[in-house]
Amino acid sequence: MNILVINAGSSSLKYQLLDTDSGEVMAKGLCERIGIDGVLTHTGNKSDEKFKFDIAMPTHKEAIQSVIDVLLDPEKGVISSMSEIDAVGHRVVHGGEFFSDSVIITEKVLKAIEDCVPLAPLHNPPNLIGIQACRDVMGPDVPMVAVFDTAFHQTMPEKAYMYAIPYKYYDQYKVRKYGFHGTSHRFVSKETIKFLGLDPENSKVIVAHLGNGSSISAVVNGKCVDTSMGLTPLEGLVMGTRSGDLDPAVLEFICKKENMDVSEMVRILNKESGLLGLSKGLSSDFRDLNEASENGNPDAKRAIDCLCYRIVKYIGSYVAAMNGVDAIAFTGGIGENAALVRKTVVDNLSYLGITLDEEANKARGEDKVISTPDSKVTVAVIPTNEELAICQETAELVKNQK
Ligand code: ADP
Repeated sequence: MNILVINAGSSSLKYQLLDTDSGEVMAKGLCERIGIDGVLTHTGNKSDEKFKFDIAMPTHKEAIQSVIDVLLDPEKGVISSMSEIDAVGHRVVHGGEFFSDSVIITEKVLKAIEDCVPLAPLHNPPNLIGIQACRDVMGPDVPMVAVFDTAFHQTMPEKAYMYAIPYKYYDQYKVRKYGFHGTSHRFVSKETIKFLGLDPENSKVIVAHLGNGSSISAVVNGKCVDTSMGLTPLEGLVMGTRSGDLDPAVLEFICKKENMDVSEMVRILNKESGLLGLSKGLSSDFRDLNEASENGNPDAKRAIDCLCYRIVKYIGSYVAAMNGVDAIAFTGGIGENAALVRKTVVDNLSYLGITLDEEANKARGEDKVISTPDSKVTVAVIPTNEELAICQETAELVKNQK
């Protein structure tokens, strides 16, 4: 089966065409500046060459049309007819309490995604527009699947997802912890169990997804029991530009001092905080900070120290939450590549009987155990692949429907 995976943002749209049998990426690319002018960057599997086109994209519909056109292009394309696309998998950010799994998109599903817009006002609307644009361009007969960032975390127990605030806010507005990056946490926890030969029905795994946005989850017997992101992706770890956890009273304190409203403050917590804020604006990108820190920059060092310390604390709290742990998996751009972060974190887990295998920790971008064989808990690098996960979940649903 060939599955088109779509990740639609407000002015951009990422796509991949994957072959489910081989797992091969047949083509991938990105539409940018939708609603402004429009740029399409495309790579097919016939060569590594990247093609860049200026194409008018007043709306997502023209963006999807240009993706189909380039996939069908006799030279740069990889298929000869639209019928070679068997299904489309859409990344959808928020499924609220409606969806604990991926689903075939129907009118009822679209309505439920719309009902979740208040929970993700910046993300769900473009996701919906992407789905509608695909329908318009590809017709009603191509099956489409929604794969939610929140779904994997729906197994969290009440004690983990409730905030200790008046219950009416949950009752009336569904204010609670939802968690995000669920597609990655599901994929990586499954892969960890498989790679390490753990018993899927008797396993405790912690997944640290560390990228520009970062989150960590506790997974018992393949089911999520806790995760660090919350009602929105702002809660939890120190991220590229997000603060993660803080005393909520900080908002009022700074707002009063700076004569700011709360929306502006939340924007600062999302866009100007985290590594960027801690490094006094130096960078939100770990590689830049690592280089600066190696050259003695104290602001970069502070940011990296805070990042690692928060991860260590979360791992400790999830070991406590699960009353033990069998494996810890690092994933995401930082988790897969930043040996320094893994070393700093693992060196602080000696109380769990874990020792880092320094040689193995040089690993990049492959499934690899980085703890020594005598460690009581196994630590591994397990690269994530959200597009492949969306493709697999889409294929499974569509096959079962037939
Ligand atoms: P996103 O959350 O946007 O998907 P990624 O998972 O791609 O982000 O992660 C981006 C982060 O990973 C950045 O901070 C970047 O510096 C870091 N990163 C990417 N490659 C490397 C590398 N080779 N070494 C260290 N850090 C890296």
